[in-house]
Amino acid sequence: MLAASVLFSACDTTKNKMGDNPFFAEYGTAFEVPDFSKIKNEHYMPAFEEGIKQHAAEIDAIANNEEAPTFENTLVALDKSGSLLDKVSSVFFNQFSANADDSIKAINKQVAPMLAAHNDNINLNPKLFERVKAVYNQQKELNLIIEAENQSALSTEQMSLLNKVYTGFVRGGANLNDEDQAKMRDINGKLALLYPQFGENVIKESQAYKLVIENAENLSGLPQSVIDAAAETATAKGMEGKWVFTLDKPSWIPFLQYSDKRELRKEIYTAWMNIANNNNEFDNKEVIKEILKLRLEKAKLLGYNTYADFAIDNNMAKTPENVLNLLTKLWDAALPMAKREAKELQAIIDKEGGNFKVESWDWWYYAEKLRKEKYALDESELRPYFSLANVQQGAYELVKRIYGLNIVRRDDIPVYHEDVEAWEVQEENGDHIGILLVDYFPRESKRGGAWMSSYRKQQGAGKDFVTPVIVNVGNFTKPTANEPSLLSLDEVETLFHEFGHGLHGLLSKVEYNTISGTSVKRDFVELPSQIMENWALEPALLKTYARHYKTGEPIPDELIAKIQKSGHFNQGFVTLEYLAASLLDIKFHKLDNVDGLDVLAFEKQAMDELGLIKEIIPRYRSTYFNHSFGGEGYSAGYYVYIWAAVLDTDAYQAFVENGIFDRATGDALRNNIISRGGSDEPMTLYKNFRGADPSIDPLLTKRGLK
Ligand SMILES: [Zn+2]
Repeated sequence: MLAASVLFSACDTTKNKMGDNPFFAEYGTAFEVPDFSKIKNEHYMPAFEEGIKQHAAEIDAIANNEEAPTFENTLVALDKSGSLLDKVSSVFFNQFSANADDSIKAINKQVAPMLAAHNDNINLNPKLFERVKAVYNQQKELNLIIEAENQSALSTEQMSLLNKVYTGFVRGGANLNDEDQAKMRDINGKLALLYPQFGENVIKESQAYKLVIENAENLSGLPQSVIDAAAETATAKGMEGKWVFTLDKPSWIPFLQYSDKRELRKEIYTAWMNIANNNNEFDNKEVIKEILKLRLEKAKLLGYNTYADFAIDNNMAKTPENVLNLLTKLWDAALPMAKREAKELQAIIDKEGGNFKVESWDWWYYAEKLRKEKYALDESELRPYFSLANVQQGAYELVKRIYGLNIVRRDDIPVYHEDVEAWEVQEENGDHIGILLVDYFPRESKRGGAWMSSYRKQQGAGKDFVTPVIVNVGNFTKPTANEPSLLSLDEVETLFHEFGHGLHGLLSKVEYNTISGTSVKRDFVELPSQIMENWALEPALLKTYARHYKTGEPIPDELIAKIQKSGHFNQGFVTLEYLAASLLDIKFHKLDNVDGLDVLAFEKQAMDELGLIKEIIPRYRSTYFNHSFGGEGYSAGYYVYIWAAVLDTDAYQAFVENGIFDRATGDALRNNIISRGGSDEPMTLYKNFRGADPSIDPLLTKRGLK
């Protein structure tokens, strides 16, 4: 009796705990979008704990299955496992990036090592690996027979899943002996803590800095919209009547472009280039050394000479040498161009009687003058035609034409912040495809940059087809009291870019979660995003969306002509600062010994060897290079943007050849690449679309590097 009652009450408690927690039931919202109004921070930990427990039990059942291993009972079962953990993780990590308070940051510290250990428990589970390996080997043998008979046991997509999972195990250390596996766990656990520490140091240091202007005379040169935004930032920080500039890009970039005050430009840019490099508690130099040391150990455990060899082995590029080959070719073309640009800037300084040599904090300012002088183009003259709402409509108009999609605003979908909008993406006939959340303005709870992520990935088929919930996050120019959000050309391209990633997730049509949407090789993932940038400034599209926010007048032909003419403007600088960061990232990870590494000295030496001119610094210096050190997604992988740029500019040629809004070409792109996720080898997908290998020439031409 007693036992029963104890049991009952225990169950009851669990039930209550679960009943209150929105992760433990269906959300019951439209399209099952996470119910942000009900999710509280205290719900995360119990859901993580339960999610890990359930996933571990599922893994256990797969590993200990008495039946002989098959694709179905091992690979498919693995792909379907962990749904609760996925559900809570997707919400939590999206909130951690875009909407984090101190409590979420604290939960992340607690949960990161738990997840690292859980992943290791899977990756290093010998029984599980044995089963995956058995299916893999069976298949390899079978393929030899089948090849001769010209038929296949598994579909291409199934083979892709099998290869990806098998490789994942091997790269996770499944083939190592017990002692080395223990080392692997230790390394992964430490890295799981170092990555958020690196990122948090960058955020803390960025947020700690402000350039406060008290005297209006020091606003000289700044457009009114930039002044207004700085006044609003000051008010938000309790400094009414002053003007505050921060290390958010929409704040410091216009300041560098327009401020006549050279000393102040120097001050804010010096702060930018020294983020997390101030020898205080938020300094990242030691963190970098520790990360590099652990990554190298990991690579060596797995039989690679360096971490770059390990990281790139799994990419399209295959080896660091192939990457360096491409980067060096581009570097050699971009360096002389950047030097010519520096001379042009110096000529303006000299002409104005400025008795100094152009420095990195001058570049943006004189480049802006040069743009005016050479092309009579003033970026602030363009902004009124690029209100955020119009640019969004331009992107939606584009996909209506090339894919036949309808994108409609939905006000009945839960959102997590008042800045967030929900849109439904539909087929031409109105069939539901997925939900796109957009969250475009900077705030303290959001990290810098722009990205796409998913709250739910597409997967399954037929009645089990799961539709995606995708998010685009940005840090674009905010509206002020007087003006809506008016974007720079750079921001316009970023919006199109992230929307392209969004479509990769939204239009995905594959069976398996593991290879759905953007789950592709990481030097392929920027193709669907970057190809969208090609359309952003096409005159025919500009005519439809670039309308003055006050009058609704379409952008004048004369301005379009100026945008077109200035297409190569500053491309030496843009290409070089990017390549410098990419090469720095590869060089750090090509080290085969990091004992006694001096991070700053290494950075300097690497840049000197390349012959980087002093007027330009890498797009990210080491101590705030989040791509390289804030996680593993882009480590030894900042190069992927230019790798994919070769692909996207070449792929875009198909539209240039057939008409930039040609629906048949759009459908071919969608069916061969965008909807296919990681269901086949990237180069196969690419050639299926283009009918040939990609050529580097369109990229060189586009950037004026020929
Ligand atoms: Zn991207």
